[in-house]
Amino acid sequence: MLRVLCRIKKAVIRCSLLLLCLVQIILLSTLFVSTSAGQVDAPLNLRVGAYENQPKIYTDSEGNVIGIFPEILNHIATREGWSLKYVHGSWAESLERLENNEIDIMGDVAFSENRAQKYDFSDETIFNNWGTIYTKKGIEIDSLLDLQDKKVAVMKGSIHTDGEGGIKKLAEKFDIDIFFIEVDNYKEVLMLLDNKEADAGVVNRIFGSLSEKDYDITKTSIIFNPRQLKFAFPKKSSISQHLIKKIDHHVRDLKKNPDSIYHRSLYIYLSGLPREMIFADMGVPAEKEIMLTDKEKAWIRDHPAIRLGIDPEFAPFEYIMKDDSYSGIASDYIKILNERLGLNMQVVPGLTWEETVEKAKIREIDVLPCVGMTEGRKVLFNFSNPYINFHRVIITRTDTPFLTGLEDIHNLRVAVQVNTSHEGYLKDNTDIAPALYKTLHETLLAVSNGKADAMVGNIASATYWIRKMNLTNLKVAAPVSQEIHSLYFAVRKDWPELISIINKGLESISTEEKTEIRQRWVAVEYEPGIPHEVVWEYIMKYGGLLLLVLGGITAWNYRLKKEINKRVKVENELHQANMRLQDLDRLKSLFIASMSHELRTPLNSIIGFTGMTLDGLSGEINEEQKDNLTRAYKAGKHLLELITDVIDISKIEAGRIDVFPEVFSLNELIDEAAATIEKQLQGKGLAIDVDIHPDLTIYTDKKRLLQCIINFLSNAMKYTERGGVKVKAREIGDDVEISVSDTGIGISRKDMPRLFEAFERLETHLRVKAGGTGLGLYLTKKIATELLGGTIEVESEKGKGSRFILTIPKEIKKETASDVTEKRGENENSTSH
Ligand code: ADP
Repeated sequence: MLRVLCRIKKAVIRCSLLLLCLVQIILLSTLFVSTSAGQVDAPLNLRVGAYENQPKIYTDSEGNVIGIFPEILNHIATREGWSLKYVHGSWAESLERLENNEIDIMGDVAFSENRAQKYDFSDETIFNNWGTIYTKKGIEIDSLLDLQDKKVAVMKGSIHTDGEGGIKKLAEKFDIDIFFIEVDNYKEVLMLLDNKEADAGVVNRIFGSLSEKDYDITKTSIIFNPRQLKFAFPKKSSISQHLIKKIDHHVRDLKKNPDSIYHRSLYIYLSGLPREMIFADMGVPAEKEIMLTDKEKAWIRDHPAIRLGIDPEFAPFEYIMKDDSYSGIASDYIKILNERLGLNMQVVPGLTWEETVEKAKIREIDVLPCVGMTEGRKVLFNFSNPYINFHRVIITRTDTPFLTGLEDIHNLRVAVQVNTSHEGYLKDNTDIAPALYKTLHETLLAVSNGKADAMVGNIASATYWIRKMNLTNLKVAAPVSQEIHSLYFAVRKDWPELISIINKGLESISTEEKTEIRQRWVAVEYEPGIPHEVVWEYIMKYGGLLLLVLGGITAWNYRLKKEINKRVKVENELHQANMRLQDLDRLKSLFIASMSHELRTPLNSIIGFTGMTLDGLSGEINEEQKDNLTRAYKAGKHLLELITDVIDISKIEAGRIDVFPEVFSLNELIDEAAATIEKQLQGKGLAIDVDIHPDLTIYTDKKRLLQCIINFLSNAMKYTERGGVKVKAREIGDDVEISVSDTGIGISRKDMPRLFEAFERLETHLRVKAGGTGLGLYLTKKIATELLGGTIEVESEKGKGSRFILTIPKEIKKETASDVTEKRGENENSTSH
């Protein structure tokens, strides 16, 4: 009685889990039904922007709009019952229509924050693209700087022309003067290069790589502006959100299926293959007529019987049924191969798997039809192409804590079936020493009975036998890896001919036939042993609800635990990454700081020699030479400024800057600073007014303070067109406050927070003219706060002027200076090791 109750209890648990699945299936299908119901909304007539940008969207010779985006959209439209009308226009026209709600959808729109203010975008990106530069034959362009004074063809309104990362913005950023020729499409860009009417041209990478062969042009290595291409929709339209939801939903699904129209059209269009292939059946064609060579035919004739060695309990792949018949997936393949190839492969009966393997080693068995590939087996056998795939998994008892993979079972007692690919896998890839069991039964039982803690096996046969043996205390705990493992025919080494024959036979089996075989054996169910009615009655009375709740709690706990483990792992990884980053950052600063000499010496000689030549010290030069040399001279100066700033910043960050305090007159220091910009001030007609007590002396690092004041003064001069600049200093207790005010363009409130950031240059009409690196204020703040122990403040009103205030101690505190010097000593020590 007790045993019967026990069995009933087990059956209840099993069936309730089934019920749980059923409920989930019902819930899911309700969800599915409701989404599909959403798909049969009133049919929509949609206007779609069409322009010429092969292969993403273009018109074929018959006037059809095709390309990656139309292909995907047409597919979705068919599924949704939408009718599409393509509205032709140039790129710029199409965008305008989109903005004005004159079209409903536009494909191939690169996402940008600016555009997102004008149009709505799908969430899903179709693919990524970027800008690239081609040139006419015969000119050399290695970097954007080489485009100075060149004629560059661009497409009007393109993201690579006018976008935030587009060529126009880049040219402005690097002060490169370019003469732009704007055309309607990329084809015209390349045509202008081909005809030598432009020096260089900007196209997107895909258009470029597919079209370059048709023109006499050169590709440069310059790439810029990577962008996500999406579908875009008018902001003003009431259906945009609906369309986005639908399109995203379909695209997400299409992305999951490697054979979908999405993947096919990307592959076909991007590799320049004929469009028809998108719709062709890409599955391996079933060649039922097998073309055997005469040699192969002769070989088959000479080998009238082939002995198969099989695993009697490797269900569902191969096994022996109660009536002693050979069954499972492999048995079906063998039937087909025997039939189609005229082979006579027959199972040698009555052997255990171990005996089979031993016999195969001494060639008393010729073929193992269903085995994994291991290093050991490769010595004995040749292998066919793979024909069955599976996942390798870890099985544990249900009460074993959650595992993530093989690394978690190192300290556990691991069981594995002897002579299987799993044994080979553990041997080849881990240092786990598993306990070996003769059969899969025994291996599973070892774990179930507590003799072992975990076993490694394949998911299909392990779950099959867990169910068949009713081992309810076992579970599939974790995959061994994401890799898919395969099963092959292993043929004795001295029969290489049979491998090519079997491969030809396998190729002749169509995808449908394969699916049918798999479904036949995977769907096989065992008999539950207890009458259904009894089980159901029991469940209805007591079990169902309780187990649903229990199931829910278990699932919730499982997820929670997994989530916690994941977070702890991520946190650890983050911490490690942070430490590495800090190390790298220190290394970077040290590296740049110590490069100072190497960088500045050659640059100084470039500036020095071009300067001398410009001054006529190497003889007379003509106007063109003078013009070119002036550019080189200016660029060199700019670069030197940049390098000097970067080096100073890095030195401060690496704690390697020298602080040399001394006593000096502030008045004299300001005079020295003013002298450096005097000429430019005069040139702009600006006055300078200095208001400092003549006896004010301070004790600090003179050179560094001078650097701060020069920087304030030069900014004041650069950003002031009318009026003047004033320098004022006064004592406030133990501090001295030095301010530089101007009557220039001022700074808006919203820009204030960015002012002291590295490489920040504000958007003003003087930006290009003023020049600069965007590092001046960043460096000044670093010097003032980290070296001189002071603070920096700014007061400004747009259009009226600015006042930068530096407050530092009159006497630099001993700790500040010695701190820095000590730090420098430490670092120097550490680098010298
Ligand atoms: P830059 O090399 O560009 O001058 P800075 O770091 O010195 O770099 O200054 C950053 C930005 O702050 C400048 O590009 C400019 O837009 C703004 N700025 C700095 N000083 C002034 C000023 N006196 N008046 C107006 N704007 C200023």
